[in-house]
Parts: sequence; C-alpha cells; structure tokens
Amino acid sequence: MTFDFLIVGAGFAGSVVAERLASVGKRVLVVDKRSHIAGNAYDCYDDAGVLIHKYGPHIFHTNAKEIFEYLSRFTAWRQYQHRVQASVDGQLVPIPINLDTINQLYGLNLSSFELEEWFASRAEPVERIATSEDVVVSKVGRELYEKFFRGYTRKQWGLDPSDLDASVIARVPTRTNRDARYFTDTYQAQPMHGFTRMFERMLDHPNIKIMLNTEYAEVRDIIPHRELIFSGPVDEFFGYRYGKLPYRSLDFRFETHDTEWAQSVPVVNYPNDYAFTRITEFKYLTGQVHPKTTTVAEYPTAEGDPYYPIPRRETAEIYKRYKALADQTPGVFFVGRLATYRYYNMDHVGGQALTLFKKRRARENGAVKVSVPTVELAAT
Ligand code: FAD
Ligand code: UDP
Repeated sequence: MTFDFLIVGAGFAGSVVAERLASVGKRVLVVDKRSHIAGNAYDCYDDAGVLIHKYGPHIFHTNAKEIFEYLSRFTAWRQYQHRVQASVDGQLVPIPINLDTINQLYGLNLSSFELEEWFASRAEPVERIATSEDVVVSKVGRELYEKFFRGYTRKQWGLDPSDLDASVIARVPTRTNRDARYFTDTYQAQPMHGFTRMFERMLDHPNIKIMLNTEYAEVRDIIPHRELIFSGPVDEFFGYRYGKLPYRSLDFRFETHDTEWAQSVPVVNYPNDYAFTRITEFKYLTGQVHPKTTTVAEYPTAEGDPYYPIPRRETAEIYKRYKALADQTPGVFFVGRLATYRYYNMDHVGGQALTLFKKRRARENGAVKVSVPTVELAAT
C-alpha cells in the first residue's frame, strides 16, 4: 500500500496536518523518533503522580478564534491566566514590568500616568530598534534592562540581547497599569486533561497510522508515500548542506516536593542568579489537586534537543538558503518551529499547519484563493 502522505513529527505541526488530511480521506502515516506523540507539548504523570510537561512549561494562549475553535474539537478547556514573578534585588516582583513592579522595587507610590513619565525620563533614545537590547533600553532605560533582561537573556541564549533580533525580547511587554498577566490574548486556557490527551484525540482516526521510535531516515526509502510533510529541523533534512543552523537547548531538572505547594506563583524567573532561568510549578498550570508538587528548573545549553531557533541576522541568512531549497523540493512540505526555523508558539504552529492544509487542498481542488487563519505573530 502507498500512503498519500508520510508525516515526520507528531507534534503540533505534524498532528494538525495529519488530522486535517485524514478528515478529507487521505491515508497518512505519522512517524516520530520519540516514544510518544505531542512533540514538545507532551505531558505525562511523574512517579509521584503529578502531571508534568516533559519539555518545559507549555501555556496555551491565542488571539486566533479559528485555532481555538479547531483545538476545541479535541479537548475541553480549563481557564488559566498565566502569572510570572521575577526575583530581583531580593524581592519577587511581577514580570512583565508593570506599575506594581516599579512601586514595589523602588518603594514608590506612582500612578500610571507618573510611571509613564518615570519611564520616559530613563529611556534612551534609539534611532532604529533592531536588537532586543534596543527594545528595552528605548522604553524603560538601562537600569531595568540590567535588572530584568540582560542576565536572563545571556543565560537563555548564550548571547547578549544586542546580538538578538528585537522580536525575542519584544515577546515580553512593559505596562504602566497593574495587569499582572503574562499574556493578554483573548483565549487563554489549558487542555482540561492535558496536551497529550488532546493529541490522542486529534490523531484517533482510521486514516492515520502512527509509528513511534522511528527516525525518518529509517522509513524514507521503504515506506511508499506520494508526498511528505516534514516538521523536523530543516538543516537536518538537507544533510546540513549549508552548515548547521544553531538551536538553543535546555536541560530540565524536575523536583518533587513533599509539600502541597513549593512557590507562591506558577513561575519565578531568575534573571541574575543561578545557572537556570526559571522555575515552574506545574500544578498551577494544570489545576491538579495533589498532596505533593513538582517543579522544573530550566538550564539553557548549546547542545541537546533543538528547542529554540535563534532569531538573529546570521541565522536568518543561513535559513534563507535552506528555505530556497525547500521551495524547490517538489512533493515535500515544511511546517513547524524547526522546519521553518521560527520562534513560534503553539498557536502559531497550529495556524501554519492549517494554512498548509488549506493551500494544499485548494491546489488539489483547482481553487486560486485561500482564506487562512490570522494568528498574531509575536515573533517571526
Ligand atoms: P515539535 O513539538 O518539536 O515536534 C516535532 C516532532 O518531530 C518531535 O516530536 C520530534 O521528535 C520529531 N522529529 C524531528 N525530527 C525527526 C526525524 N528526523 N524523524 C522522526 N521524527 C522527528 N508554546 C506556547 O504556545 N506556549 C508555551 O508556553 C510554550 N512554552 C515552551 C517552552 C519550551 C521550553 C519550549 C521548548 C517550547 C515552548 N513552546 C510554547 C513552543 C511549542 O513547544 C512549539 O510551538 C510547538 O510544540 C512546536 O510544534 P512542532 O510540531 O513545530 O515541533
Ligand atoms: N526575557 C527576559 N527576562 C524575563 C523574561 C523574558 O530577559 O524575565 C527575555 C528572554 O530573552 C527570553 C525572551 O524574553 O528568552 C522571551 O521570553 P518568553 O517568556 O516568551 O520565553 P519562552 O517562554 O519562549 O522561553
């Protein structure tokens, strides 16, 4: 038998495309080298019975109604507004920086209006905002940049913010009101029974076959297929022809505590101390009730699983060459965070996958115009 599509990767990109294709009668085989589906959004129960995210904390948020409604076919939701505090100068204060952050940190009692002036008096004029450093110093000045962003970013990326695209730090806004939510998207919710369960339901279709613990290279030449959807690293697909694209990785250190709660907020960021960037306590994200609790600390590294594409000019130039090659490879479609080398959130990848499906479908049906979901891209 010949599959209509071989899909490499059972993460957001591969699973959404698989489900869509199966729904219109295509027979698809999804392969993943890991022992599970759901990609980096995978969650599971640890030895203590606490639901954890194996590849770091995942919080779903989007402004795209179409994406939210699409995923709602496969899961019920639990409303969840994410909150983060930063450990700075011996205090825990809200991040994104807001009115309470500044009043607490500096012992002030400013109003929103006064805070705007306070920021303006510290902001440095920057002619053209090109780097992540520019984003912050042009808005709030160098002191807050040093306290909240420089150290965190150097740990996370192994680079100074002045060497990273503006889009990286622009993910984190600065506010003059008291809004302490990490995200302000219209839809903010976690899958009621976890991400993995949502993916199980998405992939539960008679037209979808799944092979886990399977590298693409193992099946490429032996499983007949008409077209290929690839969601692994694009440089790997082309045998590193133009050199390796750098990806940033993380070591996760999980710890189960014999207490009900370990910290006062879901995430604490540590911009200036320790080798890790942040500690997340999963029960806040999942709503699980359990007498114990599990946290994860993230230690950034250069080696390991590719988690983060690195947005900067040097890498964009290498990716451009791979993209040109990808565009000239008939019958192969590249989708997802690694295959398109984009610092995308889950909803961005979901949107990208739906768009790919619609375009492919429109071509098959001879249509010329395709309506695609609009996902606000914080980072491209
Ligand atoms: P992946 O999930 O990486 O899936 C790709 C799959 O392909 C993997 O399972 C891999 O094993 C498989 N694969 C790769 N190469 C091969 C091969 N050669 N053969 C076989 N299989 C292969 N997004 C949010 O929206 N909110 C968050 O809070 C959030 N937090 C994050 C925290 C961390 C630490 C990280 C790393 C990411 C976070 N993200 C978050 C981003 C989110 O994980 C991604 O947007 C999304 O999972 C990308 O889906 P994907 O399918 O493109 O890639
Ligand atoms: N960042 C920072 N300090 C913080 C939070 C974020 O410097 O307290 C910077 C850092 O460069 C980080 C980027 O902003 O990598 C994006 O942060 P986000 O929380 O979106 O990162 P992710 O959840 O994708 O790891």
